[in-house]
Amino acid sequence: MPSPIEKLCEEKNIRLTENRRIVARVISDSHDHPDVEEVYRRASKINPKIGIATVYRAVKMFDELGVIAKHDFGGKGRARYEKLESDEHHDHLIDITTNEVHEFFSEELENLKEKIARDHGFELIGHKLELYCRPVRK
Ligand SMILES: [Zn+2]
Repeated sequence: MPSPIEKLCEEKNIRLTENRRIVARVISDSHDHPDVEEVYRRASKINPKIGIATVYRAVKMFDELGVIAKHDFGGKGRARYEKLESDEHHDHLIDITTNEVHEFFSEELENLKEKIARDHGFELIGHKLELYCRPVRK
């Protein structure tokens, strides 16, 4: 079964090499927003011969094609990736002590974002919310 990223490429008539398929599958299967090096580590478990340059190029290509989502949490210059949201929009909460990313969804917040835009005379067409947090000490 092709992964969601492979499917998007098919729709765009992009032919994928076996290595690019592996990268597509790794990102599709990841729920923790890996950076390129982590994608490489996971890809090399599937194909030990895959090179990091190949992984970099594949990720760059997917990003340019708009078939994956790129995040720059905290503006640290270390991009992290995930598959595109279909209809399951979510926001991110970043633990600054571990760099772990948690996903959340709040209906209340979604409505509020739309209301804020409306109150300013706009129609909301997209948004991005990142919460930077540290664990509460008990
Ligand atoms: Zn996410």
